[in-house]
Amino acid sequence: MRMTRQRKVLLEIINQAGTPLSAEEIMFQAHQQDPSLALSTVYRNLEKMLELGLCQQIRFQDGLARFEQAGLVHHHHLVCTACGRREAVPICPLHQIQQQLEASSGYQITYHEINLYGLCPDCQKKQTSGTI
Ligand SMILES: [Zn+2]
Ligand SMILES: [Zn+2]
Repeated sequence: MRMTRQRKVLLEIINQAGTPLSAEEIMFQAHQQDPSLALSTVYRNLEKMLELGLCQQIRFQDGLARFEQAGLVHHHHLVCTACGRREAVPICPLHQIQQQLEASSGYQITYHEINLYGLCPDCQKKQTSGTI
């Protein structure tokens, strides 16, 4: 499969971010590299990249779709409620519970989402120094 230059730019942005990005955030960064990019083009490319499995999509409480690197192992996210920073946590405590739940409920559970909300280390520092 041949990747267009635009997709390559978008993919680099997503993979280097280390945190899920919304289409607007990706657009903002892509624009610095290629000012001729239109938002509709970015959306179209992101859709196509999802289809091809080049990136994956997740949603947080705010309902906004965000994009992140494909092929990441099953993980959850830490979300800072003050600055909005998001970090992947490659730990899942739920798999055993999920099996027990399947047995007791009769459901076949295929997917779950957990986000943990709180203050990141930086914001905690700001808070104790009185800047928030
Ligand atoms: Zn923070
Ligand atoms: Zn999990």
